[in-house]
Amino acid sequence: MQPKTTTIACPDCNTPILLEINQLLQGGKFTCSTCHASIGISLDSKNIVEKAVKSFEKTKL
Ligand SMILES: [Zn+2]
Repeated sequence: MQPKTTTIACPDCNTPILLEINQLLQGGKFTCSTCHASIGISLDSKNIVEKAVKSFEKTKL
């Protein structure tokens, strides 16, 4: 089974960040490779994360 991945734009610098959905939902954090901002479901970026998950689910359909 392939990992479910999506990209979201970094809230700080807009760089696309590759996310693994499952890892994200389990509380994993991802770091922007450009500005090193942290993206995680428990952080202020939660809205962005939810949006990314929703757009991913839409893609799946
Ligand atoms: Zn960034």
